[in-house]
Amino acid sequence: MNDHASCDVLILGAGPAGLAAAQAAAPSGCSVVVADDNPAPGGQIWRTGPGYPSQALARSSKLARYRNVTLHSGTRCVAVLGNKQLLLENSDRAWVQTYQKLIVCSGARELLLPFPGWTLPGVTGAGGLQALIKSGVPVQGQRVVVGGSGALLLVVAQTACNAGAELLRVAEQSSSMTLLALVAGLWRWPDKLRQAITLATPVYRPGSQIIEALGHRRVEAVRIRRGDREVELACDRVACGYGLVPNTELAQALGMALDGEQAVAVDTWQASTVSDHYAAGECTGIGGSERALAQGAIAGFAATGQMQQAENLWRERAHWETFARHLRRHLQTDVAAVKALARPDTVVCRCEDVTFGALEQRDGWIDAKLHTRCGMGPCQGRVCGAAATRWWGWGAPPVRALINPVRIESLMGHSSEP
Ligand SMILES: Cc1cc2nc3c(=O)[nH]c(=O)nc-3n(C[C@H](O)[C@H](O)[C@H](O)COP(=O)(O)OP(=O)(O)OC[C@H]3O[C@@H](n4cnc5c(N)ncnc54)[C@H](O)[C@@H]3O)c2cc1C
Repeated sequence: MNDHASCDVLILGAGPAGLAAAQAAAPSGCSVVVADDNPAPGGQIWRTGPGYPSQALARSSKLARYRNVTLHSGTRCVAVLGNKQLLLENSDRAWVQTYQKLIVCSGARELLLPFPGWTLPGVTGAGGLQALIKSGVPVQGQRVVVGGSGALLLVVAQTACNAGAELLRVAEQSSSMTLLALVAGLWRWPDKLRQAITLATPVYRPGSQIIEALGHRRVEAVRIRRGDREVELACDRVACGYGLVPNTELAQALGMALDGEQAVAVDTWQASTVSDHYAAGECTGIGGSERALAQGAIAGFAATGQMQQAENLWRERAHWETFARHLRRHLQTDVAAVKALARPDTVVCRCEDVTFGALEQRDGWIDAKLHTRCGMGPCQGRVCGAAATRWWGWGAPPVRALINPVRIESLMGHSSEP
């Protein structure tokens, strides 16, 4: 039988939003539990690994001083069991965690849009390559091409260069005019303007798109189109991503409503549509770490009744919400242009090997699942789901109470009786 544990405030996710929420909630004296599936706190932006010391260390050591705060790293929420009851699992055990208030800070993942050759070894998402490098995968001397669209591309390119890779190209889909308008508007966020200038590289090419990765046993070259010209570059790694999508499965399984941008809908206190359930950070919309920090702190204060402290941060949050809107307005991925690259045999669901040709004939998620097993593999549609939603306009894949793959003994040990 699984253990049971209870707390006043449960925070899921220990990225910037989750850590800020915990820091805000801690002085209230309420019992606070933070759970995150990464081996160390920090989320995506402060991901740690060999040679990448934790930038979240200062925040987590401050939290360690509070005896009412418990941090469970390497721990994933795998299922919603019932009213204010979640199943958590780590490598040793599983337990039923009950709570009075919940703050979902589940962040975002990359939008990966399939193109010919994208499943070859050596081809990853842009942020995927960054995560691999931070976890210790060597890229010293390797020829790297970064592509797709969004602010992350230049950050990833810099991570690869700092790790000793030879950066051949950053192929950004957005046009020069779009990017000029984006940068011109950054005067309102001087640090962001400085960062954009610092990250600039002579191999950055706006208005260009990776159209195919080539190779036999792994990637050996990439084809890039710019206007009516095409080039082929021999390379060892291709990192291609088209921005981020909010991780909303957990929130949806809890009944929290989404907004028009398919992010968790929240009010000024970061409260969701379900009473006592809050959300903060990129699961409520893509907007960077500063917005996530402000939202997380507001949620932590509000969930523990510190309303004035929460209200004091509304201005700070509004500043970064405007930044997020600025990015969204200027960085709109042309998903149709990527769809046009797919061939009948281009794999879309890589867990279950389902091709573009097989999915073109389907008219929605249920139909696709019944006929092809699309979205029914280990990632449960987290990759192909986002692509299919954008390409064919299907609604998001249905979310079930079981939100992640889980060990069978964790389920067998579950009983709702304490
Ligand atoms: C791959 C990737 C790389 C990025 N790199 C950068 C970068 O270098 N610079 C930059 O400015 N921005 C980067 N970003 C953007 C970044 O997401 C945000 O700026 C910032 O990290 C958002 O903070 P957050 O707290 O909302 O979410 P995150 O930092 O994403 O934190 C969410 C945390 O919740 C955990 N989680 C999710 N679901 C569960 C669950 N069911 N159970 C337990 N834990 C769960 C996740 O593992 C993660 O640790 C990156 C994004 C991605 C997807």
